[in-house]
Amino acid sequence: MRKPIIVGNWKMNKLRGEANEFMEAIEAYLTGDEASTYGIAAPFTCVGNCVDRAKNLVVAAQNCHWKESGAYTGEVSVEMLEDLGVKYCIIGHSERRSMFGDTDETVNNKAKKLLDEDIIPILCIGETEAQYDAGETEKVIRDQIAGSMKDLCPHCVAKMVVAYEPIWAIGTGKSATKEIAQNCCHIVRDQIRVMYGDEAADSVRIQYGGSVKPENIKEYMACEDIDGALIGGASLKVDSFKAIIDATK
Ligand code: PEP
Repeated sequence: MRKPIIVGNWKMNKLRGEANEFMEAIEAYLTGDEASTYGIAAPFTCVGNCVDRAKNLVVAAQNCHWKESGAYTGEVSVEMLEDLGVKYCIIGHSERRSMFGDTDETVNNKAKKLLDEDIIPILCIGETEAQYDAGETEKVIRDQIAGSMKDLCPHCVAKMVVAYEPIWAIGTGKSATKEIAQNCCHIVRDQIRVMYGDEAADSVRIQYGGSVKPENIKEYMACEDIDGALIGGASLKVDSFKAIIDATK
C-alpha cells in the first residue's frame, strides 16, 4: 500500500519569517492522522528553520550537489542537507534542467548520493510542449527514467518519489487531463518495472505535477498510478495549502 505524498515546491519564494508563519499555520492544522504525507520544499535559506518547526510536515530541499565537499562555489552537498535534518530533496526539476544545466546524468549522480545518505529523492521528469505535440511523450518519459534512474538498487528505488511534470502544465494553468496524467504516470511505473522489477515498481510513489490546485487535486489522486502531487503556485499561500489538505485527507 503506497502512502500518497503531496509536496509544495516554493521555488525561489519566501523569506524566513514568511516560511515560519506558513509552517506554524499548517502544523497547527495537521493532526498526523492524515492518509497522505504533506511536505514543502523550501529554498536553502529557509530549510533549517522549516525543519526546526516541522512536526507532521516533511521538509525537502530543492536541489543538491553529489560531491561530498570541495571547490563547488554556490553548491550545497547532501551531507549539508543531512546536517539540517532534511529527509527529502527535489532533483531534476524542469526549471533546473532548462535554466541551470541539469541533465539525466547529473540527476542520476544526485539520486545516488541522496540514496546513499538516506535522503529520499523527488526526481522530476516530463516532456516539453513541442515533444508532446510531436507524439514523443512516452519515449521522453522512458528515456528520462532510464537515464536519471540508472544503476540504482531496486530496494532504494522502492523508497523514491518520482514526479511526472509535463513542462507545458507547469505554472501555466493548463493542467493535464486526469487521463493524460494517469497514462504518463503508468508509463513511469512501467519503465521502473522494466528496470527494477515488481517490488520497486509497486512501491515507488509517483506524483503528478503541473497546475495542481485545490479544485483539481482530487481527480488526480483518484487515479491508479498517481500517489500524490508536486505543487508550485498553489502551495505558496496557507489557505490554498489548507484547501489541498482538506481535499485529500
Ligand atoms: C512545479 O513547479 O513543480 C509545479 C508543478 O508548479 P505549478 O503547480 O505552479 O504548475
